[in-house]
Amino acid sequence: MTGEPQDDCLFCKIVAGQIPATIVRETDTTVAFRDINPQAPTHVLVIPKAHYRDAAALAAGAPELAADVLRETRAIADQEKLDSYRTIFNTGTGAGQTVWHTHAHVLGGRGLEWPPG
Ligand code: 5GP
Ligand code: ZN
Repeated sequence: MTGEPQDDCLFCKIVAGQIPATIVRETDTTVAFRDINPQAPTHVLVIPKAHYRDAAALAAGAPELAADVLRETRAIADQEKLDSYRTIFNTGTGAGQTVWHTHAHVLGGRGLEWPPG
């Protein structure tokens, strides 16, 4: 829960421009880029530029950045012309989290079942 860039973090490297990504939006505090393995026609990841391991750590350590990420999910949906979309924060290995830098998945452009799998 540091906020500082981590040398071994994939998404910190995307923020730093050390690994390429298809960036669709950027603000002072956030970056949004297309998921490399999309699960829907729109599958964008919104991340804070600062490193926090998951959504709860971000909310506890930097609540204003958590608000920035959530605000950006709506901006992505507008940019992608989505009326309906789903925002997901996988938290923990059992829920499918594989990258330990907070990221909101924004999914849309197809029917999304509820409850999810
Ligand atoms: P998680 O499984 O942690 O919730 O989500 C991590 C997401 O990051 C996955 O959907 C995965 O496809 C995506 N991802 C992993 N490596 C890369 C990468 O190098 N570039 C991009 N754009 N997405 C990645
Ligand atoms: Zn990071």
